[in-house]
Amino acid sequence: MRHFFTTTSVFLLSAGMTLAQSAPVRPEQKADEEIARMVGYSMTRGGASAFLETLTDTIGGRITGSPESRATAELILKTLKEAGFDNAHFEEYELGSVWQHGAAKGEVISPVRRALYIGSYGWVPGTPGPIEVPVADFGAPGEGHVPKPEQVRGAAVIVDLRSSGVSSTYAGTRVMIARQLEQAGAAAMFIVSDKPDRMVYTSAFGFYPRGPLPILSIASEDAALLRRLLAKGPVRVLLEVQNSFGADPGRERNVIADIEGADATEMVLLTAHFDSWDPAQGANDNGAGVATVLEAARILKALKIRPKHTIRFVFFSGEEQLANGSRAYVEHHKGELDKIRAVINTDAGAQAPLGLQLNGRQDLEAATKKLLKPLAPFGADGVFMDADFDSDHESFMVVGVPAYSLRVERGDYDVRHHTIVDTFERIDPSMLGIHTAVMAVVAYQFANADERPGRRLSPVEVVELLKRTGLEPLYRLEYPDAKP
Ligand SMILES: [Zn+2]
Repeated sequence: MRHFFTTTSVFLLSAGMTLAQSAPVRPEQKADEEIARMVGYSMTRGGASAFLETLTDTIGGRITGSPESRATAELILKTLKEAGFDNAHFEEYELGSVWQHGAAKGEVISPVRRALYIGSYGWVPGTPGPIEVPVADFGAPGEGHVPKPEQVRGAAVIVDLRSSGVSSTYAGTRVMIARQLEQAGAAAMFIVSDKPDRMVYTSAFGFYPRGPLPILSIASEDAALLRRLLAKGPVRVLLEVQNSFGADPGRERNVIADIEGADATEMVLLTAHFDSWDPAQGANDNGAGVATVLEAARILKALKIRPKHTIRFVFFSGEEQLANGSRAYVEHHKGELDKIRAVINTDAGAQAPLGLQLNGRQDLEAATKKLLKPLAPFGADGVFMDADFDSDHESFMVVGVPAYSLRVERGDYDVRHHTIVDTFERIDPSMLGIHTAVMAVVAYQFANADERPGRRLSPVEVVELLKRTGLEPLYRLEYPDAKP
């Protein structure tokens, strides 16, 4: 095809006519122009930033199963419909449980009186009203270091997970110690926060659908005070944690919209989760991802882009618990997983984009590099071999579908993540424009490529991938019923 157009153009030129007047547009020229227009729209419309401001200011934090989460799904659906996506719709699924995040108060009452900075982890029970309990220090987990009932029974127990670092086994260790503490009769677990400036870090991961005991993040400064006091004698605290579980399991929904391809036998998925953790507004995690995927969808629609294969935009709920939304999607669409060329998920914050993380899929490298070439001017054409289970791409990885994560500069993501400072004004609006451009161009490139970037892996190959990438322990935690 390319050869044909080249000869024709040469002929017309030699006949004294200009290319612009009469030569048919070459496919690569059409692609260049469409990409230029997508990038231009992304950088000038400010649509992602405007949506993110609406989301963070009118809804804010949005825990899975909450009225705020429902309002977010409705806002996304309305925005898609207004942009002309007649096929935009909800897909509902059942939750394992609904949890209400109540207030958490803590205070040292003996030998001194002092307020404590604490926050409750998600999907854990509250205390039975206010309780006054002794404090015990378990220290850091280690080989053979198990909580002993005579040391922890009835106590709020300090556990220091910081030394184990953030690794694939971190969450597993957290869950294991929590279960051991509950069995040994502890009243509550204090996990020392790894955030600066007396901030706490909390999350629901690992405890959904129901954690074993009240689990609280305690600011590192406050944990240090407790330890200094403990070195001199017994310490007692007053705790009141008002969490509760709903009577019904509850339902959640994903939001889905398509730009149909000319040949709709295959599809590319652009995905982002819209639920958030709730100490702040969920701006960087993951309002930014939602805003940029949504704006990329609106731009492709506004430009009347007709890709070769279908581009599907999927907004998941339930990511913070156990990737519930994406797991429900995979279950609901299991008959069409073979049609998915690639899933591209964004959930690492609105720092400068660097390219795509291949999550251990070396076989995707060559094709992906080629497809990312138009992003070289943004410095977003890199491919990264690392793998993680940090977001919804995992649900597709474990069924062998090529699953990518947008890779970005780390920046101060970890400092803000799930804290009181994950707020709108900390996000650079021009970076949202670049992210929008990157997501739009990636979708366009993958949907128009002659070939898939790689094939779907068999179950045996998936197991090999999980072993090779060190993700198997986390897989066992998240999929306890999976066959070995
Ligand atoms: Zn996230």
